[in-house]
Amino acid sequence: MSVETRNIDTLVLHGGGFRADPATGATTVPIYQSVSFDLQDTARAERLANLAEIGFMYSRVANPTQDALEQRLAALDGGAAALALASGQAATAIAVLTLVEAGDNIVSSTDLYGGTWNFFANRLRQFGVEARFVDPADPANFRRATDARTRLYFGETLPNPKLEVFPIREVAEIGHQFGIPLIIDNTLAPVLARPIDHGAAVVIYSATKYIGGHGTTIGGAIIDSGRFPWADHPERQPLLNRPDPSYADRSWVELAQPFGPIAFLLAARAGLLRDLGPAIAPQNAFQLAQGLETLPLRIQRHSENAARVAAFLSGHPKVASVIYPGHQAGEARRRADAYLTGGHGGLVGVELKDGIEAGKRFIDALKLLYHVANIGDARSLAIHPASTTHGQLPPRQQHASGVTPGYVRLSIGIENADDIIADLSQALDHA
Ligand code: PLP
Repeated sequence: MSVETRNIDTLVLHGGGFRADPATGATTVPIYQSVSFDLQDTARAERLANLAEIGFMYSRVANPTQDALEQRLAALDGGAAALALASGQAATAIAVLTLVEAGDNIVSSTDLYGGTWNFFANRLRQFGVEARFVDPADPANFRRATDARTRLYFGETLPNPKLEVFPIREVAEIGHQFGIPLIIDNTLAPVLARPIDHGAAVVIYSATKYIGGHGTTIGGAIIDSGRFPWADHPERQPLLNRPDPSYADRSWVELAQPFGPIAFLLAARAGLLRDLGPAIAPQNAFQLAQGLETLPLRIQRHSENAARVAAFLSGHPKVASVIYPGHQAGEARRRADAYLTGGHGGLVGVELKDGIEAGKRFIDALKLLYHVANIGDARSLAIHPASTTHGQLPPRQQHASGVTPGYVRLSIGIENADDIIADLSQALDHA
């Protein structure tokens, strides 16, 4: 039974087809820890193998626990279908590789998670694909970088560390003129931003962060809006429109026809995931489904706490500047207000006056906040990129990322805000 509502806080609990386990009546999604599924008769096995029927065969491609999570993720963003994967990196890789082949290029925002940047700048080259990086502050840069072999645009809703919101609608509209889909990584702004509503064709997540929410599980997701007209652009999008030898020379657009507007998602699952294999484990799909149930509540609290932390840091004598969407001006602020609803997310950047040494002293003095590399945990977290991850980055990326020696990234958790601020205050005394 599908729930008829557009309210996200209900959809994360009731979205999709799962109501109770048909075999046992269990109301929580069971962990179907099974590699394979009874194919019944040979006629059905053939239909499943040929994609004439969609069903469970083998857990590398689909599993019922994963399926329940996927349906709720699709509901979260108003998509037609979703694919859960082993990690956020897998989601980016599968989404991009579904659309590109040697000789093609992609146009991406410069403001990216470092792992995505490296995949685009260095790894894609191995496949003969060029990544063109453009400054998203001027959306027309995407048009300028486009040529006949451009297959997709890519951006992050709320890129860290700049925390300047990506112009989703503006870039999606440019893409629509060429038949180029916009893929948006919405990892830092689930619930707050709904990229599909603004024209994004595909949304991806590192579910490791706010969706899981507790720092226990690596996972990722791809959500297909079902709104991109792939069939209208056979030359621009050959991989979805061309006969695919993997499935009896039928195109993904044709294969998906009986199942709805899910050509992209079907190609990602039955093509790329099947061939490359980064499947999510049922146990992890279960944990992410648990996290998803409380995501709207948590993201609201993360946002409220982060706003209080940003306000506290702004007036502090050891702080040179605070990087936070709610404190931006001009066009950046307009985009934050246009694309984020109900809060500005849980990340706050702080630039310490005394540079690299202040950053180190500050981190070493923290007692409540964890000093860790991840973000989006229920607990508050901090890292000083100049003395950790960014020390090893090539100069070009250091420049693009906007990280400076005194910059500290805070991922504000859902503890009592007074306690978070008390810890930051005492650590600043040492900075
Ligand atoms: N996208 C963003 C914005 C991220 O912050 C991360 C990880 O930090 C990823 C993608 C990659 O996700 P994962 O670590 O789950 O592979």
